Amino acid sequence: MTAADAPDQTYLPPALRPKLAKLGIQHLRDLLLHFPLRYEDQTRVRPIAELVAGESVVVEGVVEHSETVFRPRRQFVALLRAKGDDGGNNFAPRLTLRYFNFYPSITQALKIGASARVFGEVRDGRYGLEMVHPVFKKAEEVAGSDHSEDRQEGGKDSPSRRLTPIYPAAAGVPQAALRTLASKALRVADWQRDLLPRDIIAAASLPGWRQTLTTLHLPTNGESAMALESRSHPAWRRVKFDELLAQQMALRDAKALLAKEHAAPVNASGLLSTLLRQRLPFRLTAPQERALTEALQDMARGQPMTRLLQGDVGSGKTVVAALAALAAVEAGQQVAFMAPTELLAEQHFNKLSHWLAELPVTITWLTGSLPAGELKAAQAACRRGETHIAVGTHALFQKKVNFARLGLVVVDEQHRFGVEQRLALRSRGQADTDRVLAPHQLMMSATPIPRSLAMSYYADLDVSVIDELPGGRQPITTKLVSEQRRDEIVGRIHDAVRAGAQAYWVCPLIEESEKLASQDIELQNATALHGELTAAMPDVRVALLHGRMKADEKAAIMADFAANRVQVLVATTVIEVGVDVPNASWMVIEHAERFGLAQLHQLRGRVGRGSVASTCILLFTDKLSDTAKQRLKVIYETTDGFTIAREDLRIRGPGELLGPRQSGLPSLRYANIEEDIDLVEAARDAAPKIEQHPDFNKTAFLERWIRHRVEFAKA
Ligand code: ADP
Ligand code: MG
Repeated sequence: MTAADAPDQTYLPPALRPKLAKLGIQHLRDLLLHFPLRYEDQTRVRPIAELVAGESVVVEGVVEHSETVFRPRRQFVALLRAKGDDGGNNFAPRLTLRYFNFYPSITQALKIGASARVFGEVRDGRYGLEMVHPVFKKAEEVAGSDHSEDRQEGGKDSPSRRLTPIYPAAAGVPQAALRTLASKALRVADWQRDLLPRDIIAAASLPGWRQTLTTLHLPTNGESAMALESRSHPAWRRVKFDELLAQQMALRDAKALLAKEHAAPVNASGLLSTLLRQRLPFRLTAPQERALTEALQDMARGQPMTRLLQGDVGSGKTVVAALAALAAVEAGQQVAFMAPTELLAEQHFNKLSHWLAELPVTITWLTGSLPAGELKAAQAACRRGETHIAVGTHALFQKKVNFARLGLVVVDEQHRFGVEQRLALRSRGQADTDRVLAPHQLMMSATPIPRSLAMSYYADLDVSVIDELPGGRQPITTKLVSEQRRDEIVGRIHDAVRAGAQAYWVCPLIEESEKLASQDIELQNATALHGELTAAMPDVRVALLHGRMKADEKAAIMADFAANRVQVLVATTVIEVGVDVPNASWMVIEHAERFGLAQLHQLRGRVGRGSVASTCILLFTDKLSDTAKQRLKVIYETTDGFTIAREDLRIRGPGELLGPRQSGLPSLRYANIEEDIDLVEAARDAAPKIEQHPDFNKTAFLERWIRHRVEFAKA
């Protein structure tokens, strides 16, 4: 805590501080950004005949009957009928008021014949609608403002009636306390200062900050509670705009930090890449060529490239990266090629070794599981500049490898690679005469993400998109099959394999975890499955691949599968990303309902890579949750990664879609990037203008929004 923060702290009641902290409220001013979830109109009296369960309302009526009863436990019950109702009609609606704790004042106020005015939540009781522990309302309370703070200030009832805000609360924090604190915070003029330039806000038709805060914390009942609750009200749009703007600015800061760095420009001769192109059994698609050109243009500059290469599963990102890598090698630089897992890194190593076999390029394989001596030698080769391209895992490069002339870093499956890691790469480059040159960065994305998400979360990256699959691919047929028909599927795969095909058979876990077992879900055990399939297909080779195997065991099995010495590969999700065996044209996924959409898409992308038609069979158990049904429907209906990502975003929300990669970035509390895409765009467009505006104080603005801001590495 800094000295400047101290005065705020004293405003928070000490008894509530730990509880408020759970709501992310550490300072009084934090209350201002703790917006109500909904509002209650405690000023409008609702006729008994119009009540519906679930609403919180004020009701007026005459006590028709009241008594203390003891069954099932001691309680005081009063029956309220409408004022004009003479009680003659037994079918006229009544409202039951029920108190389990009560004092003589309550029984007195609710004696038969009394008129009462109460506020509470209506619910369905055993004998019709009822309220439990409703609050008594005095006549003037109903007519005037409910904000006690306002009454104190104004002295009299304020003429405009208020909607009562209901805040997100933690246990032990009364709504009344949150309201009082919010009102207090609203009296600090400085905190309501509009930090955004007026002309820009006006041009965007957004309300001022002060008005926004007042509207959201103290709305009059002239405001539409609906618009407020659905967060479509202009005041809400202003909040979301500011939040998105802060996010954009933080990302732009990260980008600016990198842009200040110097990089060695890559002056590629094209010699090596021409040789590789001649060796390739295919020609690059137009989007591949375009992406490569974009990367090469970036690399030719004196600032580090930070480019994200997006493309659906199987769109051919690797070869683009390989050609970019060769450009760096032609310019005399070294390349680090990183993947999140050893399995994937090894595949890249094999693929690059194959492609570059007859080229004068040295490739080094770097993995933590190498024998100590070999690892040392590999590290030395990197350090001394003897190797051109080093392939390994993210973890290894981050910790243990130094280069003499690192010019380019290729990061595959970048979703596990955050802003901070990207910034950390800056210092890994080559020492120039008097400065360190940062390497260029090319990221490859496994999960194609919708445009809104890319704009919101990758504002610090330039993006190239490969939006077309290489030609000659056969579409993948997806089938949803009940688990009960497994035997039939085993027969189908057996036939296909005997006819020369290869198949993946994927299961979710390698052994029953206790948690799942206790949920009584029968999980297919990979080992058992391997045994079962081996027995069912005695004439073919069935192998098992799972995450707990040693790296060299895994590699040996993958090599057998790639060479068709193994026909059926029973695997856990270790094959989820990147595995590339074009002859494999069948995939069976056990318990498909347990996988996420992105995972299913990645898995399915392991087939459909060769020239034969592929089939993906999703086995599901019959007890499906609604989200599982939705997911399977999506994966069944489309193979387009972008459509799937959009649906995934809709079903899961961005936090889960992007996962921990975004840790450290300001997360969005209020804006929803799917629904508020127009605001994401507006914020992105406005960010540079606002940053240059003479009235704008960026530090103050970012502080308002990003309290626990990531300290990006010092410039
Ligand atoms: P991803 O984008 O999912 O990483 P890969 O780079 O693994 O995809 O490419 C998938 C497969 O397509 C590989 O076998 C690769 O050699 C092949 N491939 C890449 N580009 C082309 C192309 N232009 N034409 C035909 N096949 C290609
Ligand atoms: Mg890949």
